[in-house]
Amino acid sequence: MELLTIGAFAKASRLSPKALRLYDELDLLPPARVDPDTGYRYYALAQLERARLVAWLRRLGMPLAEIRAVCALDAADAAREIRAYWARVDAETAVRRDLAAFLVEELTGESRGRHTTMLELRYAARSDRGHVRPANQDTVYAGRRLLAVADGCGPAGAPASRAAVAALRFLDGEPAAGSVLNLLEEAVRGANEAVRDLARAAGEDGEESGTTLTALLWTGSKLALVHIGDSRAYLLRDGGLFRITHDHSVVQSLIDEGRLSQEEAESHPQRALLLKALGTSGAPSVPDLRVREARDGDRYLVCSDGLTRVVPDALIKELLTAGSDPEAVVRSLIGAANAAGGPDNVSCVVADVVEAARPPASAGTGGAARVLV
Ligand code: MN
Repeated sequence: MELLTIGAFAKASRLSPKALRLYDELDLLPPARVDPDTGYRYYALAQLERARLVAWLRRLGMPLAEIRAVCALDAADAAREIRAYWARVDAETAVRRDLAAFLVEELTGESRGRHTTMLELRYAARSDRGHVRPANQDTVYAGRRLLAVADGCGPAGAPASRAAVAALRFLDGEPAAGSVLNLLEEAVRGANEAVRDLARAAGEDGEESGTTLTALLWTGSKLALVHIGDSRAYLLRDGGLFRITHDHSVVQSLIDEGRLSQEEAESHPQRALLLKALGTSGAPSVPDLRVREARDGDRYLVCSDGLTRVVPDALIKELLTAGSDPEAVVRSLIGAANAAGGPDNVSCVVADVVEAARPPASAGTGGAARVLV
């Protein structure tokens, strides 16, 4: 076997000797031979390809432990791992991009004064036990500023979802000063603590209790979204239906990483398993936070998985498009879930962005705020 000195190998691989020594120390690319007397490193020509791959993966920003794992795989498996890694980076970047855009807008006041018409929400909310579950562990809330759905799980699931929504209710009052994102983050932290205390007090052995939480907070021209778990929010705008949340579920991450198709996911045995929820132990669950510009004519849906597991997006879109007032739409959506067997609790909030009746401050289009369990 022809061996190259580190200098010759560096030249051939277009890596520096310093990088090669580092890869050796990190156990990413050990030399083919180390001279026991001089300590000089020698490389085989066959190692060139691996050296280049390590260099590319480092340029990609992949952590060393993952590079080591990828290098140990055959080409097809390595390709799958790289695709999975990039899907994760992409998702994280999307959340950071939204946050950056919001901060720029907030600091420069870019969107101020753009709105000449006053907008407000017209909304309805309803929750149903379904046909199978012995109790309803969902909690739903709709008020002038706050729309929320929480789906509790575990022995203390019902009080957990109630506690999460209760911790957000103050947001429905008069708007507080300060950044809406700070406000929401504070509220979610409170919700997480409340749910955690409750789950602990329930003193369960084994099965954990927790809850999802998906909420929209109205600011007068924008909707701030907070989301954790696999409840969802959708937007119907200009005839198109857009899902504006990303499920924090094990199967969704498998789909993102290209390891599972949408069809396989529907029958996956672990499809109910959440990556993140409020109140569960382990790593602190960081919710997705974002702010969206609202438009006159927008229709928003916030719902639990009891709807989306059994009612396809195409039918959700049809029902959202067909109904004129939010109350009728909420009823038809829940009816569709129950017609499909009603295997889970189902909760829906539908809210329309409409021109404000005058005077805006006392407009009562949506009726009194209420909680339905
Ligand atoms: Mn559910």
